[in-house]
Amino acid sequence: MNDAGIRKIVIVGGGTAGWMTAAGLSAVLGESRITIDLVESAEIGAVGVGEATVPHIRNFNAKLGLDEADFMRKTQATYKLGIEFRDWGPKGASYIHPFGAFGEPIGGVAFHQHWLRARERGEADGIEAYSLPITAARMSRFAPPSPDPRSFGSTYNYAYQFDAALYALYLRAYSEARGVTRNEGKIADVALNGETGFVEAVVLESGRRIEGDLFIDCSGFRGLLIEGALKTGYEDWTHWLPCDRAAAVPCDSVEPPTPLTRATCDDAGWRWRIPLQHRVGNGYVYCSGHISDDEAARVLLEKLDGKAQQDPRFLRFVTGRRRKQWNKNVVAIGLASGFLEPLESTSIHLIQVAITNLLELFPDRSFPQGDQDEYNRVMDLEFERIRDFLVLHYHAVKRDSAFWREKAAAPIPDSLAYKMELFRERGMVVNYRDGFFKEPSWLAVYLGQGVMPAGHDPMVDAIDPAVSAAKLAELKAAVLRTAQAMPDHQAFIDSFCDARSVA
Ligand SMILES: Cc1cc2nc3c(=O)[nH]c(=O)nc-3n(C[C@H](O)[C@H](O)[C@H](O)COP(=O)(O)OP(=O)(O)OC[C@H]3O[C@@H](n4cnc5c(N)ncnc54)[C@H](O)[C@@H]3O)c2cc1C
Repeated sequence: MNDAGIRKIVIVGGGTAGWMTAAGLSAVLGESRITIDLVESAEIGAVGVGEATVPHIRNFNAKLGLDEADFMRKTQATYKLGIEFRDWGPKGASYIHPFGAFGEPIGGVAFHQHWLRARERGEADGIEAYSLPITAARMSRFAPPSPDPRSFGSTYNYAYQFDAALYALYLRAYSEARGVTRNEGKIADVALNGETGFVEAVVLESGRRIEGDLFIDCSGFRGLLIEGALKTGYEDWTHWLPCDRAAAVPCDSVEPPTPLTRATCDDAGWRWRIPLQHRVGNGYVYCSGHISDDEAARVLLEKLDGKAQQDPRFLRFVTGRRRKQWNKNVVAIGLASGFLEPLESTSIHLIQVAITNLLELFPDRSFPQGDQDEYNRVMDLEFERIRDFLVLHYHAVKRDSAFWREKAAAPIPDSLAYKMELFRERGMVVNYRDGFFKEPSWLAVYLGQGVMPAGHDPMVDAIDPAVSAAKLAELKAAVLRTAQAMPDHQAFIDSFCDARSVA
């Protein structure tokens, strides 16, 4: 380590972002000379409603070396094979965004191009019949993917649905065991260097000063350092994603948990349903210009499966992102860095991407501008690509209410308009290196919400339709056979990670 190396990291905030960051950094830096302090305030508390995740969390947990069964038991976790969207297309219809491919390429041409041609000829079933995670999820079955890449059972992935507060506690124990020091207290002031404007210390109400070289702002929506102290600025995306509030309430389970998060379109937004082992998490994300808090809470409570376990909690947010996520010696992670509504369960994923990028571009005390610029470039892309994907749901919605009519007619980002135009011509899905959502995700939402291409890729015409048809039939049968061979989701949990077995 050079003399200019970082000596002390201070993480401000102990919500999901704070403890994920502490765990991610201590896993790598735990043996080094760098000390890590985390400051949190029990009085302020954490948001703690992020319960649904995307598959990348498995890589994060694996890098930490977590034991999956132990982590699942202690966080009341269930498995997640995708997200079911209800009422976003025609009323009463549902589609699933799966964590896995539709079919597999035939003769080197993307599966969905064969499916599009077969559909034009009236020879294909709905595309869901060719997706293993969708078919298994609809049957409420689950098994981990096969480790053999040649096996059809390896063509999907999974994520978790868990209690975010318990996950933060779990990672707290992990981090403290690797040398992270937790400091309880409310930060009353942030001391800046008079010359450089860098953060020198945070000052607690007690008067105690905690100094550091690198500060990670995980203080939630308030952005205590990145905004409060450094006035970095915020890019408001409400014109694209207009929901600005959520009401959240857990309820009793009345049926075994499904390996699916559900997002149901409602008149002024949408409702989530996330089944855990011990309860179901629910919420209504809505636009305050179209429904009052009281009415949103009433609708939410009316639609619960089981008895509400408490009164609804209300959260307010402004969709968008910080103008710079890394500014001077402060890196904002989690809600302090920006917020995209949880329609595709992406906030925890963004925390993870931020930690990975920070470790890749880990600075010394000279804080090279190039590192910051590169970090901000990558994070900007991640935010924008998820934003476009979310806006697609809003734009292609079929629901008939004042809110949704307004949304369907509203302008969309140019980057999304470009993607949609390409898809509408002949089903081309724009691929890119960075960014989370890839071809199967875009396909699921386009087709699920009725965005149909006018034609198909001419490359598919080089392959005999009879060859395609035989392969489609074979894939459909393989999907059904593999899903039917999986255990019931609840039975798998009972045998592998039953939370009731935790003393
Ligand atoms: C309605 C809603 C639903 C969501 N659903 C999902 C989902 O399904 N999936 C998903 O991935 N994500 C979801 N999220 C996002 C997820 O909840 C957050 O990304 C995650 O919880 C991270 O929050 P955080 O740690 O950044 O902030 P917070 O949870 O707000 O934590 C902030 C921390 O900073 C501390 N702090 C603040 N001020 C001070 C101070 N002055 N002094 C000392 N400490 C201070 C607090 O005590 C707390 O520990 C959702 C978010 C919302 C709003």
